[in-house]
Amino acid sequence: MAIRFLSRRGAAIAAPTALALGLPALLRARPAAAQGAAAPPPASSAQAPGFYRFKLGTFTVTTLHDGARTMPVQGFVRNAPLEEVQRELAASFLPGDQYRNIYTATLVDTGRALVLFDTGNGPQQGPSPVGLMRANMAAAGIDPARVTVIVLSHFHGDHVNGLLDAEGGRAFPNAELVVPEAEWRFWTDTGNETRTPERQRPNFANAARRFAPYQGRIRQIGDGAEVVLGIRAVSAFGHTPGHTVFRIADGSAQMTYLADTTHRPEMNGRRPDFHIIFDFDPVAAEATRRRLLDQVAADRMRVTGFHYPFPSNGYIVKEGQGYRFVPGEWSAEV
Ligand SMILES: [Zn+2]
Repeated sequence: MAIRFLSRRGAAIAAPTALALGLPALLRARPAAAQGAAAPPPASSAQAPGFYRFKLGTFTVTTLHDGARTMPVQGFVRNAPLEEVQRELAASFLPGDQYRNIYTATLVDTGRALVLFDTGNGPQQGPSPVGLMRANMAAAGIDPARVTVIVLSHFHGDHVNGLLDAEGGRAFPNAELVVPEAEWRFWTDTGNETRTPERQRPNFANAARRFAPYQGRIRQIGDGAEVVLGIRAVSAFGHTPGHTVFRIADGSAQMTYLADTTHRPEMNGRRPDFHIIFDFDPVAAEATRRRLLDQVAADRMRVTGFHYPFPSNGYIVKEGQGYRFVPGEWSAEV
C-alpha cells in the first residue's frame, strides 16, 4: 500500500511545520519574485487551463479557449420571437436572458506545419472575460513563434483581432496568413460598405489594421484549395461574403473545422433556420449551415467550431428539423 504509506509520511512531515508556523503564516508566505506582482486568485476560484488535445491520424489537434462574453438573448435571433429562442436555450439548460458567446480556436500540428484556425479576441485592456487564448497557448506549451500558418475563416473581430499583440505588432511573428479570397476581396474594398449591414461596417477598418503588419505574408485561397498538406478549404458563404470552413485529413482520419457555420450549436444547430444577428446574408448562411451539417452528420465526422462549448469538439447528429451536437468524450490520453 505505497499510497497510504506516502500520505502518512507526508502528513507526519507537514503537521509539525504547520503547527510551528501557524496556518496564516504559511498562507502569507510567497516567493520573493512574486512580490509586487498581482496576487494570484485563491486556488478555489481558478479554472483548469483552457486547452484540449486529441489525435487525428498522426496529426495532433489542440483546441484553445479564448473566453466568453455575455450579450442579451433579446435581439440575437432576427426571425423568431424571444420566447421561441429562450425555449431552445432552455432545452440545453442555457440561460434565457443572457446569451453566452463563447470562443475557442483550433490548432493542428500536422508534423510539417503548425496551423492555427482563427485567433480570438486578442489582448484586452484590463481584466476581461475574453482574450485568454495566449495564456492557454502557453499552458499548452505552444510558442506563438512556432506557428507556421494562420488560417482565417472570415474577418469578424473575434477571429482576426488576435493577429496583433498588445503593442500592435505581429502576435505570431513567423506565421504566413491564409485567407479566403472572397473574404479578402470584400473587406479590402471600402466600396462595399454601403452593401454591408451597419453593425458590420467597422470590419473594413478593423481588418486593414489587423492585417497591416503581415504584408507580404498573406496567401489568398479559393474553394477546394490546399492550405498545407492535409488541409483543404471548403467555401461556406453566408455568415460573411467569404466565410470558409476547412477539411482536415490524415489518410482516412478526417475532421471539419466548421468555424461560424453555426453560432452555439445548442441553439443554431438545433434551429438552423434561426437567423442570428452576425449573419451577413442570413438566407445563404442557413443554406450553407444545412448543407455542411448534413455532410458531417452523414459522414459521422468529428467537428470543431469556433462558438462550440469548450472543449469544442464532437459530432453532429441529424435530429427532427435540425441537428444535435454530441460532445466528444474527454480523454486523459491524447
Ligand atoms: Zn465568430
